[in-house]
Amino acid sequence: MNKASNIREIRAFLVILPIMPYIIFSAVVLMGWRYNNAGLILTSLTLALSYFVFSSYGSLSFQQKSAGLSIFEAGAFLLPVNLAFFSMITKRRIFTTTFVVYLLLLGLQLVAVLLLCRMPNSSHSPLWTFIHNISPQMADSLSQVSTRLGSGFHGIRPAALFAFSGTFLFLLIRFLFTHDAIQVGFIGTLVASFLGIIAFRTFPAAIIYFSAAGLILIITTIESSYFMAYVDELTGLQSRRSMNETLINLGHKYAIAMIDVDNFKKFNDTYGHKTGDQVLKMIAVQLNKITGSAKTFRYGGEEFAAIFPGKSAEEARLHLEKYRHGVASTLFIVRGKQRRRSSPKNRGKRKLFGQKQDKITVSIGVAEPSKKLTTPDKVLKSADKILYKAKKAGRNRVMV
Ligand code: GH3
Ligand code: MG
Ligand code: MG
Repeated sequence: MNKASNIREIRAFLVILPIMPYIIFSAVVLMGWRYNNAGLILTSLTLALSYFVFSSYGSLSFQQKSAGLSIFEAGAFLLPVNLAFFSMITKRRIFTTTFVVYLLLLGLQLVAVLLLCRMPNSSHSPLWTFIHNISPQMADSLSQVSTRLGSGFHGIRPAALFAFSGTFLFLLIRFLFTHDAIQVGFIGTLVASFLGIIAFRTFPAAIIYFSAAGLILIITTIESSYFMAYVDELTGLQSRRSMNETLINLGHKYAIAMIDVDNFKKFNDTYGHKTGDQVLKMIAVQLNKITGSAKTFRYGGEEFAAIFPGKSAEEARLHLEKYRHGVASTLFIVRGKQRRRSSPKNRGKRKLFGQKQDKITVSIGVAEPSKKLTTPDKVLKSADKILYKAKKAGRNRVMV
C-alpha cells in the first residue's frame, strides 16, 4: 500500500468520525420508535441538535467572546434542562400530545437560539439575517435581548453549570425513589454530554463523549427491556422466562412446587380485578419470604412456582406448608363493591358493611426427579398434576 492511499484512508476515516454520533443517535431514535418510547426519541433529538450546534459553531466561540449570548453557552444551559424534562416521560407512548408538544418546544428552542445567539466572530445566524432583511427594527431588538442575556446575567456560564448540577441531583433523587434503570441511563447521558461540551475545545474528544451519551441510552434501554422480560411487573417476582433458565441449570437433586390460588375467579368476581391484583401482590410478598432458599416465580396469572435446588420434595414440603399456613391465616381487608356506590353521607355508617375481611388460600403440588421424571420439564408437569389433585382433595393444602 502506498502513501497516497494511506492518506486517503485516513481522510475517509476523519470524514466519518464526526458523523459517528449521528449514526448512534439515529439508532436511538429507531429504538425509541420500536419500543414506543417518546423520551428516548426526544433525548436523542436533543443530543443530535446540541451536537450539531456545537460542532458547527461551538469550538470557535471559545476563542472570541462575543457581545451577545453565545450559541454555545445557551446550548449548554438548554441541554440539561431538556434532559430533566424528558427523563420524566420515559414510559410514554410516542405520537401523544405530550410528545408533539415537546417536539414543538424543541423546535422553538432551536429557533430562539438561532435568533438570539451570536455566532462566533459576533456574527449573526442566517435566520437573524433573514429577519433583518424583512424588518431591521425587529432584528435590532433581538440583538438587544441577546446582549442583555449575555451580560446582564453575568454570563450564562454559571446558569449552565447550575442546570447541569441541578439536573444531576434531580435524576439521582428520581433514581433513588424509582430504582429505574432508565434514570441511570439519563444520568450517564447527562454526564457524558457535559464532558462532551467541555471537550469541544478538543473536538475529537467531544465526538467520543457524545457517542458515549447515545450508547448509554441504547445500553440502558436494552437493560430495562431485559428486566421487563425477566421480572413480573405486578408482583416483582421473576417471570416464567427466568424460570425456564433456572430449570435448565438445575443439578440432580431438586424439588419443584406449583402454587395456585384457590377459587380466585370467584374472588375477582366478588371484589373486582384490581383487588385481585392487590391480593396477588401480597401473596407474592409472602412467597418471597419463603424459607428453604427457594427460587420463586410468577408462572402466569394466579399461578406461582418455587424451585428448591438441592432439596427433596419432602424437605421442600416443610417450607411450603409454613408458607401455605401463612397465606391462609392472613386477613385481606377488601372493599366491597357497595362502598363505591354509597353516598358520602352514608359512608361512615356503612363502613363495616362496605369493608370486608376475607381469607385467601393456596394449593400446592410438589414433585422431584425420579426414574420416570428425568427432566425438570417432566418434574414440573408432575407437580402440576399433583396440584390438580390437591384442588380435588379440597384445596388449601400441600401435596407431594
Ligand atoms: P381453582 O381453585 O380451581 O384454582 O379456582 P380458580 O378460580 O382460581 O381457577 P381458574 O383457573 O378457573 O381461574 C383463575 C382466575 O384467576 C381467572 C382470572 O380471573 C384470575 N386471574 C388470572 N390472572 C390474574 C391477574 O393477573 N389478576 C387478577 N386480578 N386475576 C387474575
Ligand atoms: Mg389457575
Ligand atoms: Mg386458581
